[in-house]
Amino acid sequence: MTTTTPAERTRIVLVGIRNAGKSSLMNRLLGREASIVSETPGTTTDPVTRSMEIPPLGPVAITDTAGLDDEGALGEERIRHSDQRVSAADLLLFITPRHLPPSSIEQQLLEKLKKKNAPLIFVRTFADRRINSDKQAWCGSYTAVDINNQSGAGTERLLKAIKRARKEIVIERSPLEGLVEAGDLLVLVTPIDSAAPKGRLILPQVETIRDALDRDCATMVLKEKELHSFYSRLGEKPKLVITDSQAFHAVAANIPRDQPLTSFSILFARKKGEIHLFMHGIRQMESIPDGGRVLVMESCSHHRQSDDIGTVKIPLLFRQRVNPRVEFDFARSLPPEEELSSYSMVIHCAGCMTTRKAMLARLSTIERRGIPVSNYGLFIGWANGLLPRAIEPLPEATELKRVLEDNRTLTAL
Ligand code: SF4
Repeated sequence: MTTTTPAERTRIVLVGIRNAGKSSLMNRLLGREASIVSETPGTTTDPVTRSMEIPPLGPVAITDTAGLDDEGALGEERIRHSDQRVSAADLLLFITPRHLPPSSIEQQLLEKLKKKNAPLIFVRTFADRRINSDKQAWCGSYTAVDINNQSGAGTERLLKAIKRARKEIVIERSPLEGLVEAGDLLVLVTPIDSAAPKGRLILPQVETIRDALDRDCATMVLKEKELHSFYSRLGEKPKLVITDSQAFHAVAANIPRDQPLTSFSILFARKKGEIHLFMHGIRQMESIPDGGRVLVMESCSHHRQSDDIGTVKIPLLFRQRVNPRVEFDFARSLPPEEELSSYSMVIHCAGCMTTRKAMLARLSTIERRGIPVSNYGLFIGWANGLLPRAIEPLPEATELKRVLEDNRTLTAL
């Protein structure tokens, strides 16, 4: 359970006003003290996330958020962090004291949560007190579980309600879904350069190998320098060659033109995000004006190398292939919406360290602002003249090619 990556866990987020009993519930669920419990409102200042296993849900990450009625400038910042966790939630637990009527902040919060497209369970704390009739009516048709903060009575009922809610949770597809069958041979090209982490493979590579094993496929993993030599010795054509985006050009040059080829980043564009939206983003690049600003976004805080893909290679390629007169900014979390509106385009990493849900929430904010958005793999594939080839192995290739073909004026290389 401890080796499951955060992105693969079901995210359960506890929300509610200050002193509703969120932290003590978090500790009850975990069976240990993860959040500080105090009578003082606002004791949880930043979201606290802990991992546990809830069979049959599997590995989950439970986040205790700051009270969403927190005050002052710092309070606003905490609420922004809490909001981001809420947007990424697979399941929301709305913690509310059962003996008090719904406050106006709770009512506003419920309206906000209804738009989040995640199942919601009311957890009514202070079960030793008489239920307020307005609170009872307010919980309406939602699943509601009463919990006694002191004794913990009701925790088992809550766990059962969480297990029942799993049918409503958005499931993330695996990297190779719809692409391979049992018995297929795959070639994975993984450059081991200065950007590669010492002694291990990166997450998209590891997840793809594991998925291939789960699907009874064989994988041959090699560096781009050895590709030509090993490929020429194969007795059968591999079902698919999957490369790191940065080696796209070299890999394409060393395999036959009819060899199906794609990249880890493209596989993760469909696993984590919305590949049609990313393809539209490629088509829309032509409309970026001189002086426009492009935001390059990533989902983790990895150490940047001198030839970093996000801060160096993508800006360079963009200026060479699309428009030399654009400015670049870099971010790991979504800027406030007013700032976001100042960008002409967003190019996002594969998002391997985040969940599909969190990525979709991010994309929906970007799309709502009318900002074109694409992904590292699609952009690099396009810039290397490898679109549509790199999307041809995907089940959604026909629709994606249609989006691309609509673009009559933009040609790479
Ligand atoms: S930058 Fe994006 S793709 Fe790269 S490791 Fe981080 S989350 Fe994964």
